[in-house]
Amino acid sequence: MNPTLSELEARAARKKAAFGGDAHIVCDNLVRIYKTEGVEVVALQGLDLVIDEGELVAIVGASGSGKSTLLNVLSGLDVPTAGVARVAGMDLLSMTPRDRLRYRRSVVGFLWQQTARNLLPYLTARENVELPMRLAGAASRKGRAMELLELLGVDSCANRKATEMSGGEQQRVAIAVALANSPQLVLADEPTGELDSETSELVFQALRTANRELRVTVVVVTHDPLVSEQVDRTVGIRDGRTSSETLRREDAEGRIIAEEYAVLDRVGRLQLPRDFMNALRMERRVRLELESDHIGVWPTREESSDEQ
Ligand code: ADP
Ligand code: MG
Repeated sequence: MNPTLSELEARAARKKAAFGGDAHIVCDNLVRIYKTEGVEVVALQGLDLVIDEGELVAIVGASGSGKSTLLNVLSGLDVPTAGVARVAGMDLLSMTPRDRLRYRRSVVGFLWQQTARNLLPYLTARENVELPMRLAGAASRKGRAMELLELLGVDSCANRKATEMSGGEQQRVAIAVALANSPQLVLADEPTGELDSETSELVFQALRTANRELRVTVVVVTHDPLVSEQVDRTVGIRDGRTSSETLRREDAEGRIIAEEYAVLDRVGRLQLPRDFMNALRMERRVRLELESDHIGVWPTREESSDEQ
């Protein structure tokens, strides 16, 4: 007998509940469509992503692949069109404006690429770090602001304004601002995009310090290959979906081993790397064969070329 509609719904709900479980960040089939002057742009097209508490994850992908859109959704700035986005158990699609404000103020910290966007120019570094605490009504602001600046190695900048600091110092102060209200999650959208590689290294170290010492989950979008080499997990985004993951681990001799995987979604979809597809001229259809320990993927004869 066929299942009834309500049975199907219950099944779908169970499936939904299962994906990602109670992970710190869960994106399930996330869709974000922008409409401008009647034209639709699908920036996220069913993106799945699970990140555990305390992870330090890099997100990489070509320009326009949806990285900033994803971060804006996770930061509570933007609301997705459909799907599930949950951070620390909070549902980012259905939260009330009041919860959203609270979320943005004390659950998540955000770091922009443009150094000028992160700090108020007429305040000193310390005052910038104190500001979010003041807005949240926190006590003992001065002590905490100094502690954070020290932790990130920029306490010498405490009394300086943005124009009196280098770009790297400004970004490290900005990390302190993002951490001010003890968020559970810090999001950084290409935070080293405007910096040279040496300065980038310092900024990235500061993010790592925040991750290790304060146990805050960090998600950083980056183009910088050096940065993505230093995290445990790099998630690749292509055309608004997660397409690959690189996991890094140490072997017995302490060497770092990086292994790249294609992401398989729950219904079995995966993205073949474009260069693989091009090399074998695969398009539209491929032939699959199940072997005892792998699945073979072949171009179909009529599309594979010269034989036509
Ligand atoms: P990335 O950060 O990876 O470069 P984005 O998330 O900024 O990519 O953009 C993904 C896609 O969505 C792009 O095609 C971009 O043009 C489009 N897009 C982003 N923001 C908007 C917006 N506010 N209005 C319309 N289209 C947008
Ligand atoms: Mg971007």
